[in-house]
Amino acid sequence: MAFIRRDALEFMLGVSREAHPREFIGLLRGDENTVREVMVIPASLYGEGFSHFNWMHVGMDKSIIGSVHSHPSTNNRPSKTDVRNFSKTGDIHLIIKYPYETAADVACYDSRGNRQDIIALE
Ligand SMILES: [Zn+2]
Repeated sequence: MAFIRRDALEFMLGVSREAHPREFIGLLRGDENTVREVMVIPASLYGEGFSHFNWMHVGMDKSIIGSVHSHPSTNNRPSKTDVRNFSKTGDIHLIIKYPYETAADVACYDSRGNRQDIIALE
């Protein structure tokens, strides 16, 4: 089970809506199992998928506990490539599906691609 601050959740939903129909990609900052902040990956990389993101830089930063990206469809299940990338950093990985409106559009997975619950903190 993971937790996320309500403002971080609202922020990533908003960025996903703005990026649509492109994918938004970000990294999650926090401690242990609580997401406190979203780091947006520069807009030039949107729509290219995870493969164009340099994960070498991520491993060094201990405050990064996972990732988030949007799917411009109503499917928030991870692709094979998604799961491969999940294993590269942290244990909380979020996929947000269209229309990016509420927590119900957000699915949470662990580093092996298994679904886990995520709870928004007030
Ligand atoms: Zn994906």
